Amino acid sequence: MTTNPIIQVENVYKFFGQLTALNDVSLNITSGEKVVILGPSGSGKSTLLRSINRLEKIDKGHIIVDGQDITAPECNINTVRQELGMVFQSFNLFPHKTVLGNLIMAPMRLKKMSKEEAESIALDLLKKVGISDKAHVYPAKLSGGQQQRVAIARALAMNPKIMLFDEPTSALDPEMIGEVLDVMTSLAKEGMTMVCVTHEMGFAREVADRLVFMDHGEIIEQGTPEEFFTNPKHPRLKQFLEQIL
Ligand code: ADP
Ligand code: MG
Repeated sequence: MTTNPIIQVENVYKFFGQLTALNDVSLNITSGEKVVILGPSGSGKSTLLRSINRLEKIDKGHIIVDGQDITAPECNINTVRQELGMVFQSFNLFPHKTVLGNLIMAPMRLKKMSKEEAESIALDLLKKVGISDKAHVYPAKLSGGQQQRVAIARALAMNPKIMLFDEPTSALDPEMIGEVLDVMTSLAKEGMTMVCVTHEMGFAREVADRLVFMDHGEIIEQGTPEEFFTNPKHPRLKQFLEQIL
């Protein structure tokens, strides 16, 4: 590809004691691209995502996000984090704040937005994720699927350039998975750059431009959904797909 990547992961290593969680990982993601990361449990998927916004500090290599080397000591990570929305398996909403309260907090605090402006953006986002009627409700009153949609809206409230999703539907009851994937799919169609760890193969097939398979801290195969599902090359990927499909 000729365009500059918005995320550059270059020869990254991460160690936890004796364990090599990321083993010479390199990955370039272009603006607007949707990448789905697959791999067995413990393969380093979360560590890779968390390294991209420096929730994990890597031991070797470089990670450049929108031109900023986040591994450089002079990097202001808080500025970079404003460009990166992250959604986790657990929804992590603030329980003592309403849905609207959850959405306006970061824009008011970090972007010095007025309450009125933050609320107006928040209400638009709640409409977008299909829960306008829950603006004044506390998270505990919502289903898991609704909470996760609020978590997505909350991340979007900072107007990020990139969204990172770490198994966003894994903690949900099966009947709620679809509503969250629908929100992610519409976000993808709007052109958001997305990096998603998920085991939802339907989503991967439909939405991903590229699939990345990790095992034991390494990227061992990459390709389009078509290539992955019809012609997986590495035996470990074949085995993984047989188990999951
Ligand atoms: P995945 O998301 O693919 O399941 P992770 O990135 O969470 O994998 O973990 C990769 C490896 O690193 C695993 O062996 C895991 O046990 C280990 N690991 C992750 N976080 C830590 C940590 N904070 N301390 C020690 N080991 C960790
Ligand atoms: Mg994980």
